[in-house]
Amino acid sequence: MTATTTAVSDATGMESVDSFRLRAREWIPANLRRLADLPADERAQRNVSSDQSAWQRARVLQRTLYEGGFAGICYPEEYGGLGLTPAHQRAFNEEVTDYEMPMLLNVPTFTICGPTILDMGSEEQRREHLAAAIRGDEVLVQFLSEPGGGSDLAGGTTRAERDGDVFVLNGSKIWSSGAYAADYALCLARTDWDAPKHRGLTMFLMKVHQPGVHIERIKQVNGGDEFCQEFFDDVVVPASAVVGEVGGGWAVASRQLFHERNAVGGGSPYFSGARAEGRRGTETDPLIDLVRRTGRADDPYARELIAEAHALGVIHGHLVDRVTAGMRTQKMPPAAGSLIRLFHGESATRQAEIALELAGPAAAMSAPDGPDTREVGVSFLFRQAEQLGGGSTEMARNIISERILGMPREYAADRDVPFNQVRHGR
Ligand SMILES: Cc1cc2nc3c(=O)[nH]c(=O)nc-3n(C[C@H](O)[C@H](O)[C@H](O)COP(=O)(O)OP(=O)(O)OC[C@H]3O[C@@H](n4cnc5c(N)ncnc54)[C@H](O)[C@@H]3O)c2cc1C
Repeated sequence: MTATTTAVSDATGMESVDSFRLRAREWIPANLRRLADLPADERAQRNVSSDQSAWQRARVLQRTLYEGGFAGICYPEEYGGLGLTPAHQRAFNEEVTDYEMPMLLNVPTFTICGPTILDMGSEEQRREHLAAAIRGDEVLVQFLSEPGGGSDLAGGTTRAERDGDVFVLNGSKIWSSGAYAADYALCLARTDWDAPKHRGLTMFLMKVHQPGVHIERIKQVNGGDEFCQEFFDDVVVPASAVVGEVGGGWAVASRQLFHERNAVGGGSPYFSGARAEGRRGTETDPLIDLVRRTGRADDPYARELIAEAHALGVIHGHLVDRVTAGMRTQKMPPAAGSLIRLFHGESATRQAEIALELAGPAAAMSAPDGPDTREVGVSFLFRQAEQLGGGSTEMARNIISERILGMPREYAADRDVPFNQVRHGR
C-alpha cells in the first residue's frame, strides 16, 4: 500500500477534483478488493452486520484508506481529515463503486456522530474522537431511543446526576445499532427534572464498554442481532464527556437528528462509498444480478420493474442534489433534510418489494444447486426498518408540514410543564 502524492492544486491551494479522481482511480484497484471477488457472506455483511469480524474488517479498511490518503475526505485537516469538498467525496464515491469499503462505519460514525461532534463538541472532543475515527481506531454509536418511547426523544427518562467532577447515569437505551462493536456513544440523558422536557437534557460522549453498562443484543425478524439494549447501573462519566452545555442537550440532539436525516436520506457529504442506489446500472447492480441469476433477464415485466427501481434511484439522486444545494445556499431551511429522508424511506421500501417480485418464490426458498436469493426475502422482512431508523417517516411528514409548509404545530400536553409533573408510561 502506498500513499500517492498530490499532483495538481487549484488557485485555492486545494487539489482539483479531477486530479483527486485520477489519483483515486489509480490507488483503489491497487489497494481494495473488487466487490465481485468477495465471498457471498462478506458481500452480504458490508452494510449491516451482527458479526464482530465484519467490524474488524471495516476498521482495517478504514486504516487502509487513511494510510492511502483517502479517509475523512470532507473532515477538516486539523481533525485528521483531508479538508476537501463534497465534490471530491462524490468523485471518490463514483470511482470506488465496485470495490470493498468500510460501509459499516458510515452510519452512524462518520455521517451522524462525527458531524455532531464537529458542530457541537469541545475542541478536545473533536481532536481526539474525529481523528481516531478517521484512522479506523474508534467506532461511534447513538444512545438516543429508550424503551419507553422512540419518537418522543425529548421525553427520555435515563438520568444523569452530578457528583463533583463526574455524572452518574442510570436508565436504559434501546435500538442502538452496532453498540456491541463500538467504542463511544452519544448518549442523551436527563440532568434536570424540574425543567420542561426539552430543557432538562444533556448529551454525553461516553465510553460504551465500562463498569455499570450491560449490553443485550436483540434478535430481529431478519435473523440479525446488531440492535442492542443497554442498561446503565451507576455508570460514572466524567464532566469532560458533556457535549455542549449541561441542560443544552436538546440543541445537540437536534443537530444530531439533522445529520441523521441527511445521512439516512442520502445527503451527507461524509458518506464514503457507493450507496446501493448509486450502484444502479453498474456491474454490481443487485437487481440486474438478481434477474440474471433467476433467468428472468429477458422477461418484459421484470425489465419494467428494474426500470421503476432505476427511476426511483435517479429521482432520489436529483432530490438529494437539489435539497443539499438548497440548504447550502439557505434557500431551503435545515428541516428540508426531512424531504430526502422521507423519499428514501418510501423508495427503499418499494425497492425491497420490487426485488421480492423479481425473485418470486425463490425469495423464500432456493434449491441447493439453484441461485442463492435468500437475501431478497430477508431484506423484504426488514423493509419497514427503512421507514423507522433515522427517525420515522411519520415524524418526517410532521416536520415537513410544520417547519417547511408552515402548518399548525401538533398539540403537546407536556409543553412547558416541568418534567417531574409530566405523566409517564403509556
Ligand atoms: C434500522 C434502525 C436503526 C436504529 N438505530 C438506532 C440507533 O443506533 N440508536 C438509537 O437511539 N435508535 C435507533 N433506532 C430507533 C429509531 O430511531 C426509533 O425506532 C424511531 O425513532 C421510532 O421510534 P419507535 O420505533 O420506538 O416508535 P414510536 O416512537 O413508538 O412510534 C410508533 C409509530 O408511531 C409514529 N408516531 C409516534 N409519534 C408520532 C407523532 N407525534 N406524529 C406522527 N406519528 C407518530 C411513529 O412515527 C411510528 O411509526 C433505530 C431504528 C431502526 C429501525
